[in-house]
Amino acid sequence: MSASGMTHDEIKEKMIWAGKVLVGEGQDDFTRGHISVRLPDNPSLFFMKCHSVGLDEITRENILTIGLDGKVVAGTSRRHSEVFIHSEIFKARPDVQCVLHTHPPYSIALSGSGRPMKALSQPGALFYEALGLYTDTINLIRTPEMGAGVAKALGPHRAVLLKNHGVVTAGASVEEVIIGTIMLENAAQIQMIAEAAGTTAPEFPRADIEQLKHDISRPDQFIVNFDYLVRRAKRREKAS
Ligand SMILES: [Zn+2]
Repeated sequence: MSASGMTHDEIKEKMIWAGKVLVGEGQDDFTRGHISVRLPDNPSLFFMKCHSVGLDEITRENILTIGLDGKVVAGTSRRHSEVFIHSEIFKARPDVQCVLHTHPPYSIALSGSGRPMKALSQPGALFYEALGLYTDTINLIRTPEMGAGVAKALGPHRAVLLKNHGVVTAGASVEEVIIGTIMLENAAQIQMIAEAAGTTAPEFPRADIEQLKHDISRPDQFIVNFDYLVRRAKRREKAS
C-alpha cells in the first residue's frame, strides 16, 4: 500500500517494523542507516528515523518530522546529518514517498568494482541497466548540494549505489523500498560471488530479462514479501 490513505500513526508503525525487518536482513551498520516517508497530507514534510539509535529502535516518539529544507519541524531527537539525501530526492522525485539509506556490504563491494549490475540472478534483473552510481565522494552527504548530487545520480531509477559507501533506495511505498533494498543486496552478493569464481557465462537476451523485471516490479510482489518479513519479525520478537 502506498502512503496515501494512511494515517500518521500507521506510517510510523510501518517505519518501526521496516526498521526491524532491515536489521533482520543484515542491513544494519551500528546506528547508521536511515529511512524516511513523505506525509501524504503534506508532501513538503517527511518523517525520518533519528540519529543515535539502531534501525530496530525506531519509536513513535523518536521519529522526526522534517521539511524539504532539512529543518526539523517536530520532534526532539537528534537529526541525521545525511538528511539531505532524503530532502533532495523528495524534491527531485514527486513520485517518491519513501527513501532509505543503508550500508549493505556486497552492494558496497560492487559499487567499488566499477562494474555494472548484471542479471546474474532474478533480483539482478530488477536493477539491470536501472541502477545509479554516485561517485562524487566517499564522505557523508551533509549538504543540500551533495544530496542533490545523489538525487541526480539516482535519476529515474529505484536505487543508486554510493561508491565505497552504501546504497540509497527510493520508491512509491515503504514495501517497494525495503524489499527493493534487500533484493539489491542479494543481487550484488550473487554477482560478487559469481565474478569472484571466474568469468561469467553470457547473460540471457535483453527481452527475457526485461520480461522478468516487469513481473517482479509489480506492487503486489513487494507488499506480499514485506508483509511476510514483518510477520517473521513479529514472531521473532514474541519468541525472544
Ligand atoms: Zn551512509
